[in-house]
Amino acid sequence: MTEESPALYVVPTPLGNLADITPRAVDTLRAVDWVACEDTRHSAPLLKRFGGSARLMAAHEHNEEAAAQQVIARLNEGESVALVCDAGTPAISDPGARLVARVRAAGHRVVPLPGPCAAVTALSASGLAEPRFLFYGFPPAKAQQRENALRELSGLPHALVFYEAPHRIMETVAALLAVFGPERTLVLARELTKLFETIHVCPLGEAPDWLAADANRQRGEFVLIVSGAPPTPPDDAEGERVLKLLLDEGLPVKQAARLAHAITGAAKKTMYEMALRRRG
Ligand code: SAM
Repeated sequence: MTEESPALYVVPTPLGNLADITPRAVDTLRAVDWVACEDTRHSAPLLKRFGGSARLMAAHEHNEEAAAQQVIARLNEGESVALVCDAGTPAISDPGARLVARVRAAGHRVVPLPGPCAAVTALSASGLAEPRFLFYGFPPAKAQQRENALRELSGLPHALVFYEAPHRIMETVAALLAVFGPERTLVLARELTKLFETIHVCPLGEAPDWLAADANRQRGEFVLIVSGAPPTPPDDAEGERVLKLLLDEGLPVKQAARLAHAITGAAKKTMYEMALRRRG
């Protein structure tokens, strides 16, 4: 299967540093007949730089259905099409998903190329050890909707990944703090791959002051990652209930405490002290 055979190629493009385009993406952009892009003025210089001679067609959130029909018509003619967005991976907080679905439903191949994505780039340098993450994208712009959305996420143990634009960064960080509290870790990854790339990690409670201390810190594009909710401490009340049952059955203090800890997760020391008190 060559990159020239008719298919829709989903092609990630750099987030800022043009050197981040992959050789395969360059080959694909040079080989295809058409490039479907969010903004033809934005993508034309990129194609020119990489020597592509493909014709451009617009595929943005307001014309995605019509663009899909156009792409399918080109594929039916045996031509190949690349889908790009302004920066990063199409369909990740960007248009593309509906177009891909239509193309696949029409029976054509969809070939994804791996490449730049702001969320993954930020996660890789976050240092957060959570084994799982949840990609949210842009939080709702309206305060009440944003708070509701964040509340739904607040108990999850996964790292939470948000996108945000500079004009909303202060209010979004304030909302994260209000819902998640001051202790969870916030990773602010700003202007990734660009000249003023900044990755700042701090407790959420310190983030508003850090941003306010220098207006430059509020500029550019942001990925925000909040550490997952800490595990809820085991319930001592449940430990005490089980401990009482075990002691009532006549088990020795040490054994009852050990079993109550094993069954409920309550701290062994606490169970032992409770057992001693109960036995007088
Ligand atoms: N499709 C893109 C991707 O794969 O990451 C995301 C596009 S979305 C419309 C734009 C948002 O992505 C920005 O507002 C910002 O939150 C994030 N973003 C894009 N480039 C970035 C960069 N260089 N540094 C930090 N965040 C970036």
